[in-house]
Amino acid sequence: MTLAVRFDVGVIFDLRLAIIESAAVFGGPGPAFIAALIAAAFRVYLGGAGALPGLIAIGIVFTCGVLLWFIARSKPMSDSPSILSAAVLAGALSISVLAILPQYDFERAVKQMGVPIVLLNFAATAAIGFFLSHFRKFTLERDILHAALTQAPDYHYVKDLHHRFVVVNQNVAHHNGRASPSEMVGLTDRDLAPSERADQLMADEANVLRTGRPLDHFEEYLIEEGKPPRWYSTSKVPLRNRDGELVGLAGATVDITEKKLLEQELSASRNMMATAMAEMSDGFAMFGPNGRIVFCNERYKALFPKSGYARKPGAHILDILKVTARSGERNDLPSDVDDHQIKITAEKLFTDKDEIFQLADGRWLSLRTRATDENYVLALVSDITSVKESELSFKSFAEQMKGLAETDALTGLANRRSFDESLLREFETAAISGRPLSTILIDVDRFKAFNDRYGHMAGDACLKSVSAALASVARRSGDLVCRFGGEEFAILLPDTDLKTALILAEKVRTSIARLGIPHEESEHAVVTASFGVAVFTKGSTVSHPTELVARADLALYQAKDQGRDRVTFIKEGEDILMRQFSAFNDHAQ
Ligand code: GH3
Ligand code: MG
Ligand code: MG
Repeated sequence: MTLAVRFDVGVIFDLRLAIIESAAVFGGPGPAFIAALIAAAFRVYLGGAGALPGLIAIGIVFTCGVLLWFIARSKPMSDSPSILSAAVLAGALSISVLAILPQYDFERAVKQMGVPIVLLNFAATAAIGFFLSHFRKFTLERDILHAALTQAPDYHYVKDLHHRFVVVNQNVAHHNGRASPSEMVGLTDRDLAPSERADQLMADEANVLRTGRPLDHFEEYLIEEGKPPRWYSTSKVPLRNRDGELVGLAGATVDITEKKLLEQELSASRNMMATAMAEMSDGFAMFGPNGRIVFCNERYKALFPKSGYARKPGAHILDILKVTARSGERNDLPSDVDDHQIKITAEKLFTDKDEIFQLADGRWLSLRTRATDENYVLALVSDITSVKESELSFKSFAEQMKGLAETDALTGLANRRSFDESLLREFETAAISGRPLSTILIDVDRFKAFNDRYGHMAGDACLKSVSAALASVARRSGDLVCRFGGEEFAILLPDTDLKTALILAEKVRTSIARLGIPHEESEHAVVTASFGVAVFTKGSTVSHPTELVARADLALYQAKDQGRDRVTFIKEGEDILMRQFSAFNDHAQ
């Protein structure tokens, strides 16, 4: 045993206790047992008076050391306080076990060797502890590095200055058809790759070693025999020792095939998207939540020739609208529009809407805006000029058709159909409002005879003149003059009482007579007409529009009967009496 000192015959002191205690505290029961066994065997071999106490001391130190190991086993005793504690324990034990010696020996031993024994055991245990701690740290670091390198998912390797593999991980070995990384040690790329590629790889590495500059993410598309082609990204860095001398290089190669394929797919779909956008017949713009254009196609700019230059990525909607207004491009955004109005128009961008507006050059554009969940806005602008023009011409055609359907071709007055519709409407209004509604029926006198005498063409001309006379008198808005049929006319007078209607009818009558159209077959020598007037007022017995017309017709009949060229009316209830009277007469005959 180390530093053995003979104290008495057969009594020897050395550092065996420090070794046993260190083996127990830092290594556990196994190493401690071996150390204790060797120490015990050696002590027995030496023999002498101190053999038994020596063996007992070995047992005590072994037991204390193992106990301490058990107590602290959850964490290895590798920090300074633990090591120093173990050293203090070793010192204390080394002096304590002297008590096993007979009394006089103990006192003598303590006196003569106590201090050096304690100090030496303390120092030896501390030295062993610190050495083991350092060694443990070193091996741990090495194990971690080794595990990291060999188990890394990509391809990792270290080469020396002659391009020979020094360390490789499992993936490199497998990729090169080797069962284990150790089979790769000492090989170069010349042993593994086709000569052209090996030359290239070695030239790249030589460049790294010469310049000291790393090769950074160098991408390669590799077609290797018997394997599907793949993309790799390689980085190689020079390795230096502690003195800064170049000793080799470390390389890492990553299989980036999936990433590359995704990138290619993404770029293809981006290209497709960009082409589709460019080819679109509609203008498309995307605005960010901050109101600025993120993307727009060329068509979007082209649709606005005056403000197109301002419609580009990064441009703010407020600035775009200001340029548009200043240029007078949009009819609904006059050049003198104020900032407040511009702001309101800009805010509308962020609501889902469909709107149509006209440009100063006459074109019609439709603008559809849709907001996304992330507050982006998609704006689609379409030139709908042709659609709008068709719509407008269809509208005017429909209006024309409607006019034709409601107009009498000969006189240009409203026709019977139009009269019936208006009568129905006005009757309902009058019934609700309680305002009077008058109607006048007009029939040209002796018109059959006129035709017979002057001919049908002259008859038509006469009807036109009479129509003009009617229209020129009943001019109040809401009055409706219509050709009722043949040589009969009607005037509908909303909000007009009987008295006013009678005055108007009289006016019309005189205006027709004053036309002075000669009519030799008539008792009046000129063309005249007869008038029947009826009124619907609140509380009237008339309950339906046709009854109002029938009442006017009855009055007209009376006018004819009384000698023509006159205005007659039926009083409230009179028509009923008259109908009853004529029914009685018919019955009597
Ligand atoms: P009365 O004084 O009783 O009303 O006698 P009248 O001859 O006017 O009465 P009647 O109803 O018998 O004759 C109406 C005539 O009007 C018959 C028809 O030849 C003529 N007439 C109807 N429509 C037109 C038209 O569009 N053009 C012309 N020229 N004549 C028409
Ligand atoms: Mg008639
Ligand atoms: Mg007539």
